[in-house]
Amino acid sequence: MTASEGLVDFHCHLDLYPDHRAAVQEAEEAGIFTLAVTTTPRAWPRNHELAQATRHVRAALGIHPQLVGERASELALWDAYLTETRYIGEVGLDAGPRFFKSFDLQKQVFEHVLRRCAEAGNKVISVHSVRAAKSALDHIEKYLPLGQGKIVLHWFTGTKAEAKRAIEMGCYFSINAAMLSSERHISMVSALPLERLLTETDGPFTKTGERPSKPSDVLIVVEALGRLHGLSSIEVVANIKANLRGLLEFT
Ligand code: MN
Repeated sequence: MTASEGLVDFHCHLDLYPDHRAAVQEAEEAGIFTLAVTTTPRAWPRNHELAQATRHVRAALGIHPQLVGERASELALWDAYLTETRYIGEVGLDAGPRFFKSFDLQKQVFEHVLRRCAEAGNKVISVHSVRAAKSALDHIEKYLPLGQGKIVLHWFTGTKAEAKRAIEMGCYFSINAAMLSSERHISMVSALPLERLLTETDGPFTKTGERPSKPSDVLIVVEALGRLHGLSSIEVVANIKANLRGLLEFT
């Protein structure tokens, strides 16, 4: 039993660290449930292979909205792998200035992804929604009705009203340290029900000190959530574990 045993990193790009295999091994040895999201379907086979040999790491099949502009043609490959996994991500929408030109295409791809997931049933989906909370929720409501899959909104930065809508739609939220360092986001996060929260790093895209974050760094999120809710880290960890169990229960 290590200090990180039982932690959850529900959104981490293990394949984007310098040594993919070592990153998977480190999460496994630390006993951290880690959702290894991918950005392109081409990355699926290797991620799947490495995760399959572990107890704690799960690979997710993704097509990242920021790559859709160049890689929409890989959607057929995404379809081909869909039956191999319950976990989907990173998928979603990004209306930030760098990606807005592909926004229409992103919407088509996200619609396709959600429809396929609804048909297949029982998928757990890590969703990106930068500057597109409303559109992402509109899509989810339309193409993945409640009970046809589970949504985890990753790094959600919508308004409180949008968060309330997402809660009513049954969504979960994976919270990272960066979200808890901005006043506006803290206020939104503190209004989320504890039973819908998971933790994430989004490593290696985020930093802890000077180095890229890694799964064990979710402890920082655990501590911050504890301060927010007046709970000990042990209580927060127990909550997050219970939430993960609830999320993964078969529908
Ligand atoms: Mn990500």
